[in-house]
Amino acid sequence: MDLTQHIRNTFIHRFGAEPIIVRSPGRINLIGEHTDYNDGLVLPAAIDKAVYVAVKENPHNVMRLVSDEYKDVVEVPVANLAPSSAKPWTNYIVGVADQFQKRGFKVGGFDLVIAGDVPLGAGLSSSAAVECATAYALNEIFAYGLERLELVKLAQLAEHEFAGVKCGIMDQFASVFGKNDHLIKLDCRSLEYTYIPIDLTGYKLILFDSCVKHSLASSAYNTRREECESGLRMIQYYYPEVKSLRDATLEQVVECIKPVDQTVYKRCVYVVMEINRVELACEDLLRHDLASFGQRMFQTHAGLSCEYEVSCAELDFLVDQVKHFPSVIGARMMGGGFGGCTINLIAEDSVNQVTEAVTQSYQQKFAVAPRVYEVAPSAGTAVLV
Ligand code: ADP
Ligand code: MG
Repeated sequence: MDLTQHIRNTFIHRFGAEPIIVRSPGRINLIGEHTDYNDGLVLPAAIDKAVYVAVKENPHNVMRLVSDEYKDVVEVPVANLAPSSAKPWTNYIVGVADQFQKRGFKVGGFDLVIAGDVPLGAGLSSSAAVECATAYALNEIFAYGLERLELVKLAQLAEHEFAGVKCGIMDQFASVFGKNDHLIKLDCRSLEYTYIPIDLTGYKLILFDSCVKHSLASSAYNTRREECESGLRMIQYYYPEVKSLRDATLEQVVECIKPVDQTVYKRCVYVVMEINRVELACEDLLRHDLASFGQRMFQTHAGLSCEYEVSCAELDFLVDQVKHFPSVIGARMMGGGFGGCTINLIAEDSVNQVTEAVTQSYQQKFAVAPRVYEVAPSAGTAVLV
């Protein structure tokens, strides 16, 4: 039975009424890493793995939340919403209700059953999928009339305030705005976006999950942000018109930062080149040059590993291993770094061979098998009938 039927049945069995069902997908990012907080470009896609919520209003002024994943039922009165440390999974739902309230919308009682097939905590943004599914569903049943972009911003704020993760807007944007067979070229400054078609005929997108998350991740994230800001100030001293690294040229980075600070210099070179790489990668796709696109993924990895220094032994190993295969035309670490998945562009007929080889060598070296996910660019948040 598919997940839609499953949560519909669960809902009807438990609450005795017919719900609406909303699907909101996880996401990948092809190119454009650590560019969002520098006002840069990113190139994500929603994927064919999603979170599903079955939802209907109730007359009790209480949210009754049922999780398939956690085999849990939680009741939360709609007055006085606050994050819960005892039931963290509810925060992504209650946090969204809280954001509607903060915008002055009345949130009535509702029943909600949630399930999904986005792997949790693997860097595919299952959290954004939960938030966006909930935001979309509440907007439907209470007829708030908010546009998609407003739902995206609201979901992002829910993550900031109830999950305590100060994420950029990419994850929620990709989940809501995804389109079959397309990537989303998103300008993180203006929020303008274009759909870039990607023809994967003969190839598959495969993720290898390193199954590690090093504790360095969040402190390094903050340090990188500070290094970027410090580099920006060095440029602004001579070029005040540069408002963010988005505006900076490589020449300016060399001229203003290189003589002052080698570390900050490396970080800023990476960011400026990566933003440019998103533009070039989109041109590759529009020319149907998947091979050139894949080369840029390798370049991004090299930059993240050597210049931005947010990779780790496990991620570098996964990328190094696939380089031995001519059938792997692109690979890089994905996400903030220090763990999570690598994303790989692999010729269809050698996916099994590569997967087996990588699994075996990774297991030998790190004593844990990587998880493997096949993903495809898919449609964004929608009500299912
Ligand atoms: P990621 O977003 O990379 O998957 P996070 O740690 O940000 O990892 O979010 C994962 C959390 O989101 C889970 O721990 C859980 O609280 C919540 N979540 C994700 N999917 C589901 C689901 N299907 N049902 C209930 N909660 C979920
Ligand atoms: Mg998350």
